[in-house]
Amino acid sequence: MTSKMRSVSAIRNGTVIDHIPAGQGLQIMRILEVTNSDKQITIGLNLPSQRLSLKDLIKIENRQLSSEELNQTAVFAPQATINSIQQFKIQKKAQLTLPTYIKDLLACPNKNCITHEEPGITSHFNIVAIGKRVQLICYYCERQFDRDQKILYTY
Ligand SMILES: [Zn+2]
Repeated sequence: MTSKMRSVSAIRNGTVIDHIPAGQGLQIMRILEVTNSDKQITIGLNLPSQRLSLKDLIKIENRQLSSEELNQTAVFAPQATINSIQQFKIQKKAQLTLPTYIKDLLACPNKNCITHEEPGITSHFNIVAIGKRVQLICYYCERQFDRDQKILYTY
């Protein structure tokens, strides 16, 4: 074992999401719906990182992320690096940018919000970064939630 040895094995084709803040990896897996797919997934939690003190990392075989999925990932890991891998080589590195809004993905934590009452209304949050904190503001009930709040998140 040398220090250069990677803690997670290489993949032939697929996507590597690196530099996820520790603790957000499982949330991102849920958002990308990889937990109930048949794709081969490698996840590393609480790995040592030079850029972050600890990081999570996800490798998904044979899958590329759409721009919408990249935006969704950015809500939880704006500093993540997305590597698109083909034949074991990095083809494309994408830096994420925090989207200004996110629709139809997360449930509003406010139980009285109209998004829970009306079947035709899907959730819509505007996103603002205040320093390192990311806040989600429900478009309908206008309540503000911290991104790291763990309740009622995904549908
Ligand atoms: Zn709401």
